[in-house]
Amino acid sequence: MKLIECECCGGKDFHRTDGMAVCDNCGSKYFLNKDEQVSDKVLIAAEVHSLLYKSAECRTKCDYANEMLYLLQALRIDEKNSILWTRLGRTYRDMRSYKNAENCYKKAIVLEPDLPYAYGNLGVLYMVGDDKRDADALEYMRKCMNYIRESDNDYVTMLANYGVALGLNGQKGEAVRMIRKAIKLGYPNGKAAMRIAGIGVFDRVCGLLRG
Ligand SMILES: [Zn+2]
Repeated sequence: MKLIECECCGGKDFHRTDGMAVCDNCGSKYFLNKDEQVSDKVLIAAEVHSLLYKSAECRTKCDYANEMLYLLQALRIDEKNSILWTRLGRTYRDMRSYKNAENCYKKAIVLEPDLPYAYGNLGVLYMVGDDKRDADALEYMRKCMNYIRESDNDYVTMLANYGVALGLNGQKGEAVRMIRKAIKLGYPNGKAAMRIAGIGVFDRVCGLLRG
């Protein structure tokens, strides 16, 4: 059977790790053979799925406090689910609880060392959080770009964020190149990204000449 959608949650986005495809939405794992056929799978428990669904409902209402509680309950059952940790990190980030967010993303990285979103979100956190750490932001955005694939859902956003991190670290030519590439691929907030990256009109012209 070819993998098209997650049997557990119906999600259609997956990332690859260690010969597996992992559902970006719920963390169910599918082992693939060389013909990309599913040879085995580890689906998340029904209870975890139900908690995940409830947490997502809270998120649509910006009810982050309850989203957090549902995710914590889910993690009590499935503490090795890296997707749950990245989701909880996002919830904490939106609650401006940056230290907790950082811990969640780091936990996800320990569980799945090639999870691009965990690196990318950590990079963003260091750009927007309480204590700005531009060099760390760039390091994590670089790691994210190592693992993310152009076909991945968040590729364009992560590419733009990578551009911003480059700009914040004084690498303006590269920053312009990355942000321009993201814009070309459909990134909608290119102007804001240029501004946050500290790129003025002159830099943009130089970037255009180099690009
Ligand atoms: Zn799923």
